[in-house]
Amino acid sequence: MKVLVAGAGGFIGGHLTESLVSKGFQVVAVDIKETNHWYKRSKNVEEFVGDLRNLEFAYEVAKGVDNIYNLAADMGGMGFIENNKAACMLSVQINLNLLLAARDLGVNRFFFASSACVYAKDHQDSLEVYPLREDDAYPAMPEDGYGWEKLFSERMCRHFREDFGLNTRIARFHNVYGPFGTFRGGREKAPAAICRKVVEAQLSGNHQIEIWGDGQQLRSFMWIDDCVRGIEVVMNSDYYDPVNLGSAETVSINKLVDIVEEIAGVKLKRQYNLSAPQGVRARTSDNTLFRSLYGWEPNTSLKVGLESTYSWIYNELVKKY
Ligand code: NAD
Repeated sequence: MKVLVAGAGGFIGGHLTESLVSKGFQVVAVDIKETNHWYKRSKNVEEFVGDLRNLEFAYEVAKGVDNIYNLAADMGGMGFIENNKAACMLSVQINLNLLLAARDLGVNRFFFASSACVYAKDHQDSLEVYPLREDDAYPAMPEDGYGWEKLFSERMCRHFREDFGLNTRIARFHNVYGPFGTFRGGREKAPAAICRKVVEAQLSGNHQIEIWGDGQQLRSFMWIDDCVRGIEVVMNSDYYDPVNLGSAETVSINKLVDIVEEIAGVKLKRQYNLSAPQGVRARTSDNTLFRSLYGWEPNTSLKVGLESTYSWIYNELVKKY
């Protein structure tokens, strides 16, 4: 079977490509970045570099594929999405072009990577943990910019399924982390950013760390291998409505820092930057639906996943010292 991975040069796309290749799929890997900037490259993959906002390019790469996984988006952590709302919304073009190509070229299945940012804010503005259920996305009041793009693209997938018979599948990812992902440059998310800051403090001897917000904000973080397994499970199932794909292990950012400090064997002086972007107060995944559908849920502990993430980031940073 031949499958297209859009965003294959990115974090999740790189891991997904590797997993699909290992299972014998013929993979067409596509990204806008030059291949020397891809986080992971697998052998025996057909690679294309180009902009999926260009309709002709989308048709060119989708020709002859059975399934499409759309993981391409102009995105990043809170610092990026709060300051680049238009850029985030323009990712709608990528999904639109891939849906059109899938419809016109007879693709069997189409996976869209959505996000927990589609959820209405009013469930997430206090430290009382309210695990987000799939139906909390409506009435809609998602994260401005990025969240609206994801919700609109979900909706477009739904209508392509209803009106054109395209088999679409949608998972709402909750914070994914792991090695071979963004850890510097402004697009990184909390786990990678904290690992990087702890390594930098260790290597420089300046034992301080800046934390965005008061550190009490609550999140859940999903280990990359659980995410890849979840994508394949959702893609192959008969269930087509959006489903959460996340961990239910909820921690504060302070706790996340505790874990990374423990892994690194250091204790740092914390400085809280209250004017930095912080996102919602608390966000975690309700996995009731996912569990009932698939008899499993992302369950790798944060401690275990952070050990490999930390060690990969350490090795990347140590190269420059
Ligand atoms: P990433 O930034 O590492 O990967 C996205 C890739 O898409 C990048 O390599 C980028 O170059 C590529 N891309 C962007 N614009 C493109 C274009 N016009 N044409 C072709 N390629 C283009 O991000 P990721 O963490 O791997 O996320 C993958 C998907 O999962 C995205 O849709 C993202 O919104 C979604 N998601 C991720 C998380 C997370 O925690 N990482 C959480 C929720 C949702």
